Amino acid sequence: MARKFFVGGNWKMNGDFASVDGIVAFLNQSADNSNVDVVVAPPAPYLAYAKANLKAGVLVAAQNCYKTAKGAFTGEISPAMIKDLGLEWVILGHSERRHVFGESDALIAEKTVHALESGIKVIFCIGEKLEEREAGHTKDVNFRQLQAIVDKGVSWENIVIAYEPVWAIGTGKTASPEQAQEVHEWVRAFLKEKVSPAVADATRIIYGGSVTADNAAELGKKPDIDGFLVGGASLKPDFVKIINARS
Ligand code: PEP
Repeated sequence: MARKFFVGGNWKMNGDFASVDGIVAFLNQSADNSNVDVVVAPPAPYLAYAKANLKAGVLVAAQNCYKTAKGAFTGEISPAMIKDLGLEWVILGHSERRHVFGESDALIAEKTVHALESGIKVIFCIGEKLEEREAGHTKDVNFRQLQAIVDKGVSWENIVIAYEPVWAIGTGKTASPEQAQEVHEWVRAFLKEKVSPAVADATRIIYGGSVTADNAAELGKKPDIDGFLVGGASLKPDFVKIINARS
């Protein structure tokens, strides 16, 4: 099955109205490319503004959400609110949520279930730390993170998996196309065994970790790499080259 290329831009906790205007301008000026799903994730205060100003072909995601619709959870936002803004996507399980904010596999799985049940699609991030890779645990760690949502019996049509090795995020150290392909292939085999061959075939597995306009084309040639989740480079006009890396 041909999987549509997917490129996400994670702005993290960066920006102000002026810089959002700059990013919106280069995205709106870019040529439309119907072969790629493009989804950018501004910080929560700029979600509505980005949505109002971006052209129709560029979708907007939240960077996180909580596991219930509303209540006494100071500082959190819910999938219901994301939907109320007219948005369709959320990033969950990003390594900064896992490792800076201590989110567990169990919490991320609960959030994923709730987001999907609320009609929000999920970019579900997984990835091993450097010490885990060096100790030979890359497969176990990524499979454990995935197993947490397999155990919940989620439906997979609204999930994109982002494999983001923690050692490659924001470090300038990209996984080689071979290193990334190896893990993507393992993840697809995992889905085939634990979920179904059809889900394994249809689910997009995107790579994240210091993707740039210079390395995107080579990474994008690998058969199991279905796109990218891009942090730093998504703030710059070169992001458009990454969007078009496979075109
Ligand atoms: C990310 O934040 O998901 C990411 C991959 O960041 P960077 O591209 O900056 O490594």
